Amino acid sequence: MASRSHKKRPSRRPYEVSDKELRRNRKRIQNLFSLLLIVAFIVIVILLLKAIMHGRADRTSSEGPSLHERLKAALKFAEGPPPEPPDTFEGLLDINQDTMVIDQYFTYGTHLYFSGSYNTLPQVVQAEAVVRPINEALDVGAWTMWLETDEEDGGVTHFCAADGITTGPDLDQIPAGKYALLMKLTAANGDVQYRFIKDESHNQPFDYYTVTRNGSNRKIQMKTMTDTVHGFTFFGIEVEETELPEDIYDFVIDPGHGGTDEGCLSRDEKVKEADLVLEIGLKTKELLEAHGYKVLMTRDGTEDPSEEMAYTMYAENGRVNKACRSRAKMGLSIHIDESSYDSERGFSVTGTIRDDWSFNLPKKLVSSIRNHTKAVFWDEEVGNVKDGIYYGAYDGFMVDGTFNNRDAFYMIRELGGVATGAMYDGNYEYYVGENQFRNSLQGVECDLVTLGFMTNDDDLKDIMGNKDTYAEALAEALDSMIRDAPILSLETAPKAIPSAQARQAEKEANGESTESTEPDK
Ligand SMILES: [Zn+2]
Repeated sequence: MASRSHKKRPSRRPYEVSDKELRRNRKRIQNLFSLLLIVAFIVIVILLLKAIMHGRADRTSSEGPSLHERLKAALKFAEGPPPEPPDTFEGLLDINQDTMVIDQYFTYGTHLYFSGSYNTLPQVVQAEAVVRPINEALDVGAWTMWLETDEEDGGVTHFCAADGITTGPDLDQIPAGKYALLMKLTAANGDVQYRFIKDESHNQPFDYYTVTRNGSNRKIQMKTMTDTVHGFTFFGIEVEETELPEDIYDFVIDPGHGGTDEGCLSRDEKVKEADLVLEIGLKTKELLEAHGYKVLMTRDGTEDPSEEMAYTMYAENGRVNKACRSRAKMGLSIHIDESSYDSERGFSVTGTIRDDWSFNLPKKLVSSIRNHTKAVFWDEEVGNVKDGIYYGAYDGFMVDGTFNNRDAFYMIRELGGVATGAMYDGNYEYYVGENQFRNSLQGVECDLVTLGFMTNDDDLKDIMGNKDTYAEALAEALDSMIRDAPILSLETAPKAIPSAQARQAEKEANGESTESTEPDK
């Protein structure tokens, strides 16, 4: 206290503020407040602009979820399980936007077949069809395609499933999800390009149901899809778990003949082919059902014995329409042959000639029959592909409607729809009705199994003494077609190879020049 007394007394106490200072402070506060107002205004304007842009993006994508729907989904997320991701195709960004056009597609058995053409292709050493899930860069399954450039036609390149109608993407192997169907092209230098596919087939869309596995089925739709964010339009595959509709089956068993048609007879004329194949067919159905499959019989023995079934096979409920209506994936027509030579014997499996090289179902049938029975190969050379396997001439009708022997393979031809060139249009006087499914885009893969010869004592004795074993062989072959093609796993699917453009873009983003990444020479 003593020291302070010597100092000059301040004109006012420290807590007193002069009017001038007060005005200055007020001005400062006003300035600060204005600044805050301006900042707040700018923030509001930015947020509003963002919301408007967002709303516009929502409106431009025709099928995308609205802002409201997304908010609803976000709310749901807080309540329960996470919402479905929107249809954005981030995983497709590395795909060459140059689409490849398909002019037709259909299914045969469990496979998708498609074909088309393209104008300018790089030097391609390998072409594959791959399915890629949305939002992912995974190749879920790859199926080899065939490419051929037609130099005379201005270098147009044609493409289709490599080995005919049974080797395209196996629909039964694709897990539930949404996918783009892509063409993966590998160049000689290892560069890979993925391309979208554009559907110009003008097909009516259809639902494909997978074969029952462990009591469950999937419904598959092939359709043009749109990315809701980037606006890409491309051909895709949507797979969802679902119940199998009541009228749809996994397999169809067709015991030959029936009604007034006894088929071939044993040498003593006591045993009829129609009875024997019915018994084996019913047993085959029973065995397949024990494996959980849904099986339709084209006839089960309850048919009218006075019906001329050979004439009514195209009738509304005849064996052809019945089998096609079931939309079964695979079918077996079971027969036993006859010959004017008692010594002629052996079994054979006839597939369609459009199954160019793979003959997967015939191969399974042949090996299964050989494994289960003592049956020997038929030694006929005409139409023989390899041991036990034959291809059927499926254009058996003469143009004038004359019925001839070659039409014995009508089940192979007529059940395949577009895939096998089904043709019966009801204009032949020999038959009743018409094949309503001759233009079907969902073909039943049907093979004709001839178990042996009724007129050969060894064959007949073996078949009659081992009906169950023959049925086991047939059921085992169909079952193994499904068992040996398991549903593919997204977890183990290989990462898609980034396209050359995507790799280049990445390099540029990392600030690398193209030259510096070239290996030293
Ligand atoms: Zn027959």
